[in-house]
Amino acid sequence: METKVLPVNEQSLGLAKEIIESGGAVAFPTETVYGLGADAFNTAAVENIFKIKGRPNDNPLIVHVHKDYDISSLVSDIPKYAVKLAEAYLPGPLTMVYKSFGKVSPAVSCGLDTLAIRIPAHSDAQKFLKYLDKPIAAPSANISKHVSPVTAEHVYFDLNGNVPLILDGGKSEGGIESTVLDCTGEIPVILRSGLITREMIAEIAGDCGEYVLKEGEKVKSPGMKYKHYSPRCKTKFFSSDELDKAIAEYKKNNIAGVCTYILCDDETAKIAAVDNVLNLGKNGEEIASNLYLKLRDGEKKAQLIIAVAPKEQDGVMKGVMNRLTKACKDV
Ligand code: AMP
Ligand code: MG
Repeated sequence: METKVLPVNEQSLGLAKEIIESGGAVAFPTETVYGLGADAFNTAAVENIFKIKGRPNDNPLIVHVHKDYDISSLVSDIPKYAVKLAEAYLPGPLTMVYKSFGKVSPAVSCGLDTLAIRIPAHSDAQKFLKYLDKPIAAPSANISKHVSPVTAEHVYFDLNGNVPLILDGGKSEGGIESTVLDCTGEIPVILRSGLITREMIAEIAGDCGEYVLKEGEKVKSPGMKYKHYSPRCKTKFFSSDELDKAIAEYKKNNIAGVCTYILCDDETAKIAAVDNVLNLGKNGEEIASNLYLKLRDGEKKAQLIIAVAPKEQDGVMKGVMNRLTKACKDV
């Protein structure tokens, strides 16, 4: 199949609608990463998404809607704190999980009785979702376990020939996936950290928990258990106080002829002072925005990426650390 890459306009939106209405998949930009969307009411279309990505069939999808969509037709028991959070942070990089009415295909939530809903802020995502005016099930638009895409080129690299249309909306500025928040309990609980931090949620909701998988327990957000976001080259991971070890490893490998790069924040890059560096930038937001870009850049030129964790690990960096360890650490 030919894969078209088009900017968002009346013509490309018309084509996107035709594809979605006939059960196909369209990749579209959001402010976090690019999504691969299909009609959430159409089981075959949703199953097709899993097939294209090679995604495990117990890893549920997030449904995306435009800002004026009435989500009370899809989910029940929306708590007061969720209404306040939606007022404060939506549209934006926050996915909220509610009890589902079961209106969308059961394939979306992989049989769970809940539904994850997101209202992206990216203006092209809003245009696409408004044009379709129905819930669009969309995981990230990459081959499963590969680094998530933050440009249309990244999507093309992974899915060329397997999707008919990629809507190009430029670089996804946020750079890491949305915060996933369980809103089915008395207080909100973070299932996956992201750009909307625990502190930001607690400030509005009064409290915010963080889900930790206990041994022997069934995982609440199945996506948590998989290796993810990995570049297609070897990786090694060092904590922020192991820079000396990381540099020794870097030197050893480059001398042995293995093209090696160090992936780290700006401060560490300055101290390390090595030639081959993938510099993530200075602060949490900048590092999140650059993470997948640098991992995709790195896999093209390096045989080995040595990741050194930034010192700062609170706030947005919590989400970054979650992605960085899943991408580069053997866990
Ligand atoms: P991705 O599509 O790759 O961004 O992954 C979606 C994330 O949302 C995964 O971590 C899923 O486990 C999580 N998710 C989606 N739907 C639900 C749900 N109904 N309950 C809990 N987590 C969910
Ligand atoms: Mg993903």
